[in-house]
Amino acid sequence: MRACDLERLELIGIDRSRGLPLFGDYRMVMFGMPSLARLQKDLIQSLGMEKAAVILSRFGYDSGLGMATTISELYDFDSSEEWLRAGAVLRTMAGLAVEEIMEVSIDPENKTLKMTGRWRDSFESVNWLSQFQPHETPICHILASLSSGFASAVLGSEVLVREISCRAQGHEYCQFEARPMSDWGISAEDIQRRFDINPLGEELTQLNAALREAREDLRRQNAEISRLRLLTRQIETDEEIIFRSEAMSRVLTLANKVAPTRSSVLIQGESGVGKEVMARFIHRRSTHSHAPFLAINCAALPPGLLESELFGYVKGAFTGADSDKKGLFVEAGEGTLFLDEVAELSPELQAKLLRALQEKEVRPVGGLTVSPIRARIVSASNRDLREMISQGKFREDLYYRLAVFPLFISPLRDRRQDILILARHFLSNFTRDSHGFSPAALRCMEAYHWPGNVRELSNWVEYAVILAGSELILPEHLPLHMSTQPPDPLTILGADQPTLEELEKRYIRIVLQSTGNRRNEAAKKLGISTATLWRRLQQQ
Ligand SMILES: [Zn+2]
Repeated sequence: MRACDLERLELIGIDRSRGLPLFGDYRMVMFGMPSLARLQKDLIQSLGMEKAAVILSRFGYDSGLGMATTISELYDFDSSEEWLRAGAVLRTMAGLAVEEIMEVSIDPENKTLKMTGRWRDSFESVNWLSQFQPHETPICHILASLSSGFASAVLGSEVLVREISCRAQGHEYCQFEARPMSDWGISAEDIQRRFDINPLGEELTQLNAALREAREDLRRQNAEISRLRLLTRQIETDEEIIFRSEAMSRVLTLANKVAPTRSSVLIQGESGVGKEVMARFIHRRSTHSHAPFLAINCAALPPGLLESELFGYVKGAFTGADSDKKGLFVEAGEGTLFLDEVAELSPELQAKLLRALQEKEVRPVGGLTVSPIRARIVSASNRDLREMISQGKFREDLYYRLAVFPLFISPLRDRRQDILILARHFLSNFTRDSHGFSPAALRCMEAYHWPGNVRELSNWVEYAVILAGSELILPEHLPLHMSTQPPDPLTILGADQPTLEELEKRYIRIVLQSTGNRRNEAAKKLGISTATLWRRLQQQ
């Protein structure tokens, strides 16, 4: 048999029982070019060119050996040369390339072989150019190694087919040359490496181990990051003001404006709205935030003690004064002195405070020398100072000294948008693994009038966490006076200041609920016809 007499259609058979295509006794598998292109790309992109070449070459070499053996079982070739040429016919028939042999000589006895030829439209180069830019070196790894395997089987010893130039480099066709391995002058080890999958396997094992280690590292680092995040969050708790309401946003805009100045600020608002938090906020954003922030509650101390706390005293000024003491005005330096509940100052202290602020200096109790006041004064009151002025209980001149820049913080019930976000904030401070608030508990919170404001909310969340643990917080976890107070839907109706249209929708729903979904009755309550109600519901 000569290679040119091979009849292609005879070479491919069908397994009659199963309908599978056969080459000799071997089952064949057909793939389309695009899927092979995909494989080529995935291999190169995930392993890199060099390692992809090893895998493709091994695949090709084994296929070549198999083809050569199978064809020699099917036919007796006239000569080794015809057998070798049959390889070209088979490679063309298999769709790998249109192969042309230019020159061929083989002597199996002396183990010499030389073959040169061309591959036109090699499938690898076509796939390459459809996906990548031209490459610097030849890329037809499967074709070259498949030819190597085939030729090695024919010669009975190792043959290496090298691609000299490749269409993927921009040439018109690929050129190859086949010689016994030893002829190429390449060390056997190099070649071995090219076809040896084991180093790759070892490398993959090593990579896998490294990957496992890196993952473990990452897990540890993530745990550390979570821990640090928690810490930071705890620090932020007294750093940031939590809000969502327009009202609070306006106050903060003002606070931000006054913070960098040295003007006195008076913060007014109900007990528990967070006046000290606001004072600290102003201090942090002041030009002297590095200096101390000192706070004193004017209602907490008897007048005499308060005076010596504020202004200091000298040794022997009174019984028990066994050494000099600097007052808070001096200790605050260039920082901020926060006078909480300033309305509670006695008339005498009001006068002394006024004098100190006017003269910008303080004289310690029992002392003769004065010290300058450099601190910025921020004061706060939960009482209406203007009303106290009109009742003669607070000095008007002191008021104007303190209230150069007045700020008013609304009670929590007037900024209900802040309730949920504050509650969640406190919850995250008290526990790491809570399931949050049930909708019913949220409704109770939003309907409640919060006489104790933010402080009461914080206390309540702590209370609920103690009762609920990590479970979802339900109305029964609320303090009794809150949970027994049924949430009034009308109170929360406009809490988030919806549009008129939205408000109307909500109101209709509330009235419907209150009538047990009886539309006639609801329409009557709403003062519209049942038909109109029906239409409105359709629009919702
Ligand atoms: Zn090529």
